Amino acid sequence: MSHVFPRHCKKTIPTAVRGAGCYLYDSTGKAYLDGSGGAAVSCLGHGDADVIAAIQKQVADLAFAHTGFLTSEPAEALADLLIEHAPADIERVYFVSGGSEATEAAIKLARQYFIEKGQPEKRRLIARRQSYHGNTLGALAAGGNEWRRQQFAPLLFDVHHIAPCYEYVLREEGESAAAYGLRAAQELEDEILRLGPETVMAFMAEPVVGATLGAVPAVEGYFKRIREICDTYDVLLILDEVMCGMGRTGHLFACDADGIAPDILCIAKGLGAGYQPIGAMLCTGEIYETIKNGTGFFQHGHTYLGHPVAAAAGLAVVSKIVGDGLCDRARRQGEVLSKALHDQFGQHPHVGDIRGRGLFQGIEIVEDRETKTPFDPAKGYAAKIKTAAFDAGLICYPMAGTRDGRAGDHVLLAPPFIIEDNQIDELIGKLATALEQVIGADP
Ligand code: PLP
Repeated sequence: MSHVFPRHCKKTIPTAVRGAGCYLYDSTGKAYLDGSGGAAVSCLGHGDADVIAAIQKQVADLAFAHTGFLTSEPAEALADLLIEHAPADIERVYFVSGGSEATEAAIKLARQYFIEKGQPEKRRLIARRQSYHGNTLGALAAGGNEWRRQQFAPLLFDVHHIAPCYEYVLREEGESAAAYGLRAAQELEDEILRLGPETVMAFMAEPVVGATLGAVPAVEGYFKRIREICDTYDVLLILDEVMCGMGRTGHLFACDADGIAPDILCIAKGLGAGYQPIGAMLCTGEIYETIKNGTGFFQHGHTYLGHPVAAAAGLAVVSKIVGDGLCDRARRQGEVLSKALHDQFGQHPHVGDIRGRGLFQGIEIVEDRETKTPFDPAKGYAAKIKTAAFDAGLICYPMAGTRDGRAGDHVLLAPPFIIEDNQIDELIGKLATALEQVIGADP
């Protein structure tokens, strides 16, 4: 009997023993094409010799030094590299061990910033419905995915949610994308005014929504208007790039495509590329200086902040993304993937939308293409597609709850940046087989 407490307690899952390139192998020798990089994690693929060598060297040189006493060379070098490429005004990097720790730290930093500025009444957070910002209690409160929140609701602090920028479903007939973007952004201003600007500390959003919507970018102009609104009311803009950051969308930082810069930026997943658990919260020099010139101490911390081995892995990963032109490659292979998805599923009766940026693509599964009606959640199609794809040797990331609660299904694809054209063909073929098995029979 296994003593591991697995995610799904009722089923037995294979044991992964090896990874190479875009494939994972289980103990029976079965290969799985990693079409979603796990959960948009493995951006360099598996078994990257440079990252492995960097980790091995760092473990031998210095495995751990507590950041309460000492900094480390890899943490300093990784921070320098990130800041060299970061959006305007972002000047400081706070290393953590994953995405939830990054968003959690961002919420606390926003709160402390306003306290140190002498505005303690600024305490409210606005985020968006159908969003996910992590599973720890602060991050879970920020998220607007009802299914994930429901049973923990009594434990969560009050966060105010507005609609996501979700063109496929929320843009009205005859409305231009630009007009829709402004209307969606207007919800933020309305909510700030409703709550009282003097009480609102921050707005949190993903530039391209991953797990909960399936690679949905905002329409052009949305984030520019969001930035203006935040500036007008002295509200911090926190961008969660835990999933969409680190080159996945074809830009090292996803918000570059939207032409804006946040006050606080969260990254994780692709930062360690699965080789080490690492995330980071980046912030402007202004936020950092306010705390430095105030109490001089960010009232937060974890034992493994800036872990040297994790930082060494992150440094090797980001050096490779930048040095080997992998953002460009993600953009190019993203076009190949997008075209292949359109060729295969563009006319599929149950694929309502194909969207995404770079190697971050999603398809939305619907009962009726004309009305965009989702399938009855009781059919459990997302889970069934995941199983059918896995059986066919494909790891992809289907999720239910795209519309809200459990309604609406999508499949998220986020393969390693090194994926080749023939592997994209394999991915599409296996996904088509899975869709055919699960919903092919649904009239
Ligand atoms: N934020 C976003 C956008 C995510 O997609 C995730 C994880 O999927 C998180 C935060 C939480 O990250 P982690 O699972 O590393 O805690």
